Amino acid sequence: MDTVSKERRSAIMGRIRSKDTGPERLVRSWLHRDGFRFRLHVKSLPGHPDVVLPRFRAIVEVRGCFWHRHGCAQATTPKTHRRFWNAKFRRNVARDALRERQYAELGWRLFVVWECELAPRVRDATLARLADAIRRDEPAEGLRLVAEPATAYDAPASRPQGNMKGARMR
Ligand SMILES: [Zn+2]
Repeated sequence: MDTVSKERRSAIMGRIRSKDTGPERLVRSWLHRDGFRFRLHVKSLPGHPDVVLPRFRAIVEVRGCFWHRHGCAQATTPKTHRRFWNAKFRRNVARDALRERQYAELGWRLFVVWECELAPRVRDATLARLADAIRRDEPAEGLRLVAEPATAYDAPASRPQGNMKGARMR
């Protein structure tokens, strides 16, 4: 842990904590234009999820591929301070898994949108599929949205365009 300076670490933590990041704003404004109404940073749910759609009992989470270890090309591991980074990544992934269980137990459906799925050329398709999945309103399917292992470290660097698993969004 001490291989990373205090300043550096607080910069890193700041990035993790910061809400209202670009990708999140993008998803929110798109959903809003599509007629969805939601609440932000809901304190009554574990982890204070950023985008909550009570009417659909749905939570939308935008995950950074690097921080949350999506199996895509963006989930690189820095060459230096590997122990620090790996510990950090493990904590993030474990927290994500915990939240997924908690939301499922509480009867909320979690929709995960990965940052790479918001790249300009795939963005519209991703968001259309997200909106469709939310509207389909199938509570029992919620678990499958996050069925893809979060720790797909050995996944190939290049994945099919769009990268939003049908099974996950269904
Ligand atoms: Zn990704």
